Amino acid sequence: MRRFDGKRLLVATHNAGKLDEMRALLAPYEVEVVGAAEMGLSEPVETEDNFAGNARIKAKAAVEATGLPALADDSGISVDGLDGAPGVYTADWAETGNGRDFGMAMERTWRELEERNAPFPRTAQFRCTLVLAWPDGHEEIFEGILPGQIIWPPQGAQGHGYDPIFQPDGHEMTLGVMSPDQKNAVSHRSIAVAKMLDGCFA
Ligand code: IMP
Repeated sequence: MRRFDGKRLLVATHNAGKLDEMRALLAPYEVEVVGAAEMGLSEPVETEDNFAGNARIKAKAAVEATGLPALADDSGISVDGLDGAPGVYTADWAETGNGRDFGMAMERTWRELEERNAPFPRTAQFRCTLVLAWPDGHEEIFEGILPGQIIWPPQGAQGHGYDPIFQPDGHEMTLGVMSPDQKNAVSHRSIAVAKMLDGCFA
């Protein structure tokens, strides 16, 4: 596993919620986190059908555009009662043609579970795949999985995306109710980041 010894790390995301979480998780380390929007990068099209493939597209595009090492996250929620959907299409379920509407995406998730008469608990997993890519083509991949269940109605206004309908196993509240510190202590992203810190920053 390659050690990261740079001073700046480009986090190749335009998602402000993900960027905030990455900054908080990397705060104890001596690395300056720079976001893709600050660098004026455009968002590449995610053409793969798996998280690792799409994370690699984002990381490589950012490295090519800047010459900096880049970290990309591809993530989403897989709902067992929906055969793993929305999965890699998690963000797409929120697309309106005029920005993203996660209220709509959460409603669709619940509606489809109801239509299928899915049994309770309505288990699901948040998944996060990180690709850390260097300018010489080397890359390292890390995965984090957070098991839990989909609940309705949505609870809480913290976090982002589908947080208000996801209750992690072992907790009585959704990610949308948790404070940022509480969420970062358990999340799929923090699990993947912990593996990266162990492997590349320790
Ligand atoms: P992408 O990785 O940019 O393709 O988008 C993944 C989508 O998954 C995000 O837009 C969110 O809707 C959802 N997602 C990923 N991580 C989280 C999370 O921690 N909380 C809530 N939603 C998330």
